[in-house]
Amino acid sequence: MENEKNEARPLNFLEKIIEDDLKNGRVPDNKIVTRFPPEPNGYLHIGHIKSICINFGLAEKYGGRCHLRLDDTNPAKEETEYIDSIKEDIKWLGFDWGKYEFYASDYYDQLYEIAINLIKEGKAYVDELSAEEMKEYRGSLTEPGKNSPWRDRSVEENLRLFEEMKKGKYPEGSLTLRAKIDMASPNINMRDPALYRIKYAHHPRTGDKWCIYPMYDFTHPISDAIEGITHSICTLEFEDHRPAYDWACSIDGIEHTPHQYEFARLNINYLLMSKRKLLYLVNNHLVSGWDDPRMPTISGVRRRGYSPEAMKDFVSRVGVAKVEGVVDYSLMEFCVREDLNKRAKRLMAVLDPLKIVIDNYPDGKVEYFEAEDNPEDENSKKHKIAFSKNLYIEKEDFMETPVKGYHRLYPGNEIRLKYAYYIKANSIEKDENGNILAVHCTYDPESRGGTTADGRKVKGTSHWVSADHALVAEVRQYDKLFKAECPGAATGNYLDDLNPDSLKVIPAAYIEEEGAKAKVGDYLQFIRNGYYCVDMKDSSAEHMVFNRTCTLKDSWAKQKAKMGL
Ligand code: ATP
Ligand code: MG
Repeated sequence: MENEKNEARPLNFLEKIIEDDLKNGRVPDNKIVTRFPPEPNGYLHIGHIKSICINFGLAEKYGGRCHLRLDDTNPAKEETEYIDSIKEDIKWLGFDWGKYEFYASDYYDQLYEIAINLIKEGKAYVDELSAEEMKEYRGSLTEPGKNSPWRDRSVEENLRLFEEMKKGKYPEGSLTLRAKIDMASPNINMRDPALYRIKYAHHPRTGDKWCIYPMYDFTHPISDAIEGITHSICTLEFEDHRPAYDWACSIDGIEHTPHQYEFARLNINYLLMSKRKLLYLVNNHLVSGWDDPRMPTISGVRRRGYSPEAMKDFVSRVGVAKVEGVVDYSLMEFCVREDLNKRAKRLMAVLDPLKIVIDNYPDGKVEYFEAEDNPEDENSKKHKIAFSKNLYIEKEDFMETPVKGYHRLYPGNEIRLKYAYYIKANSIEKDENGNILAVHCTYDPESRGGTTADGRKVKGTSHWVSADHALVAEVRQYDKLFKAECPGAATGNYLDDLNPDSLKVIPAAYIEEEGAKAKVGDYLQFIRNGYYCVDMKDSSAEHMVFNRTCTLKDSWAKQKAKMGL
């Protein structure tokens, strides 16, 4: 796994094409124009990051520009919310479309004119076949299709019917405008593809002006042509549609000819990246919303505490190719950890508290220790940590009866409290049911800062928080949303693979005082516990909420390694 960021890496196939086109003068004004064309029917997911980085990244690299085009050919109700989130997500990744914000619906008038011209030239006709019949007539991969009985209507009749379709004279599904290409074409997408369908839907931008809407395969290439897109880059599933794309770009009167190139979409194990399925999770309250920190949406990973740099590093490591594959979730987490290790502020937080009383430490006394915010950073700032008689350590850092090899606190054993003193456990205070209330310890005043003059060794070091100074906050321990590598593979239903432990809430964790200064957008590490961030929705000064971004190490990989996988 090499870091490709700053090193010269071989050009990917798209860069090769572009460099070749530029060199050979095939690009108008020598400026490439790409576009990112999301359909505003959901929030963007991690897969889209790849497409965004490719399209905006190529434009940046070659001094061109990238358009944001909202593909709103399917009128959707929540469109405004989706459009807002799409823009926010692209900006978060650090890309800017400037004034080049377009909507497929901007071109409805032009598309309509083009359709009329096609009819006049005898290249399009109004079909009366039902959807069912159309499918039957279309043929299959092995059999040619057959011509619709309505294929040879006169131009006049086609013009009249299309006009009436537009005026709302016919019910949905009754008539379709189709291109007259070739029902025997080996490519099914060329067997008289539909250009327009009737749909009585209110469009968020065009209102009720239209009750006929252009199809994707017609709209997309023409939108690209109108905008002067030079390289129209999409995912492999559109490869079979390329002849239809080229057909549309060659319609008389279309002056600019864009070209379509396909790359392999990003798939990641343990994740689902289909807006339809993600919408299902949202609508059925299986997650708290599109931006639930477990969601593979851009807004979800942002709220979870992933940085845009980590996500861009991840897609750059995945690379751009033409072969579909599944990327390991652990590669994504690796990139997140690499990034957070460099930037996260270290804090001590006790998530599962056990009370420690230092019997020989004066009541009411407070001492401050200094800790570097980030030992990985040469220019790290420092912050102060209060120490007092009453502390918390993690429950797992104490054992009344230690097992073999246990080096942390147990009766009679001495450990180091990070940054502070050595302490030794002396006695255990219990309630009537035998539950431990506190462990009474003594400290060695000579061990201030974590070493002693006699150089005696202690094997364990625990993090801790002063009970009298701690910030009490809610901590949300997030894990993978799905427990199977390929959700739904076993039973056919991805819901069967939801991870019941994907969220564990700790209502009251103890965090060192400094934690109260943390703001939304800060990257944090709770020493020994993981990387965390302030929840951008639910955290407030009165009730702080921290989200676990990821654990410090890949425990799943460790488990797998243990099992010899
Ligand atoms: P979904 O299937 O998740 O609903 P989509 O392809 O319908 O996604 P669009 O909004 O149409 O989503 O996609 C916008 C752009 O992002 C398209 O060019 C599409 O090819 C690309 N894209 C979508 N999913 C991925 C992915 N997993 N990896 C890379 N690019 C993707
Ligand atoms: Mg789509």
